[in-house]
Amino acid sequence: MEKAYFDYAATTPTHPEVVTAMLPYFEEKFGNPSSIHGFGRETKAAIQDARLKVADLLGADQAEIVFTGSGTESDNFALEGVAFSREKEGRHIISTPIEHHAILETLKFLEKRGFKVTYLPVDQYGMVNPEDIKKYVNDETILVSVMHANNEIGTIEPLAEISKVIRELNINRENRIYLHTDAVQTVGQIPVNVNELGVDLLSLSAHKFYGPKGVGALYIRKGTKLVSFMHGGEQERGRRASTENVPGIVGLGKACEIAKKELPVWTTELTRLRDKLKNGLFAKISDIELNGHPTLRLPKNLDVSIQYVEGESMLLSLDMEGIAVSTGSACSSGSLEPSHVMLAIGKTHEQAHGSIRFSLGRLTTEKEIDYVLEVFPPIVERLRKMSPLYKGVK
Ligand code: PLP
Repeated sequence: MEKAYFDYAATTPTHPEVVTAMLPYFEEKFGNPSSIHGFGRETKAAIQDARLKVADLLGADQAEIVFTGSGTESDNFALEGVAFSREKEGRHIISTPIEHHAILETLKFLEKRGFKVTYLPVDQYGMVNPEDIKKYVNDETILVSVMHANNEIGTIEPLAEISKVIRELNINRENRIYLHTDAVQTVGQIPVNVNELGVDLLSLSAHKFYGPKGVGALYIRKGTKLVSFMHGGEQERGRRASTENVPGIVGLGKACEIAKKELPVWTTELTRLRDKLKNGLFAKISDIELNGHPTLRLPKNLDVSIQYVEGESMLLSLDMEGIAVSTGSACSSGSLEPSHVMLAIGKTHEQAHGSIRFSLGRLTTEKEIDYVLEVFPPIVERLRKMSPLYKGVK
């Protein structure tokens, strides 16, 4: 059986050069970076080197990078850290209904502790209107958190415009509004520069761009107030206690270095392959529609809704052919409700249940695209023949 992986938005295979860079830090170079002897100094230097590489990819200063255990941790740290350090200045946060659960669940947690959250409306593509922030902001607002690109539908949000609106609002405010972005789906995928985006805080995760799992980082602009929620040693300048995941951090640094070099090639090639897949599917399958913005979207992302068929059935049938995809339909996510993203962009339950996400990566080949185009349309046809909804239509 052929195999084709189309789930790079879920996770990516670690780049061989990343693995090579990490390996010495499991055996020979194992010192605790907090130790002042040579073994410790060696790993401390490796962490510093990785910090420079992350900062370089983001256009940040190395002192603004804090290593964390994941994208989820970075999101929790940003939101809770700002909320609890600034609660005396205000208890209002603005976000969107299409954020990842790492943000949405943290916001729910904060709401239970007395914070108020306003969710900005999004249009049919999942796009926020930056001007809306002016409508929803109040004297208590301390933070706006808008994801850079959506993990499901791939839409890229207008972060630079959002930060412009916030900068204007901040001119007359004593309690400055911070801007956080969950850039887990964009760092290493498209150019991300913290100054061009104008963000105060930015979350990223290594395993989404060919680094190892279980390591991430939070960019914290100089002067940004936030409390730590890991207490213990003085690691990461007291921002994040616990002995560092040295191999992981080295791997993240290497992944950033590779991304910086390869990004233009990845972007062009992925856009080409993604569009070939899209055009092929739209030519061969009827009643299919694109989810997310037609142009302002991640190069790797193709998310479609196919009428009269269930996402899970398509996913499982594709899996039997060795093809890995993801769906915004219910069961795959372990809940009964379809994807909150689909519902927020105004899709019906049927459309949400019929959604399939293909996400491409640096190892995706033309052959894999051809394989999907050969195998998938007959699957849809077969499933439709079994669908009572489709029979009603035909
Ligand atoms: N935010 C977004 C947009 C994501 O896509 C993900 C992962 O799916 C996360 C946060 C969580 O990152 P991690 O898996 O490193 O915890």
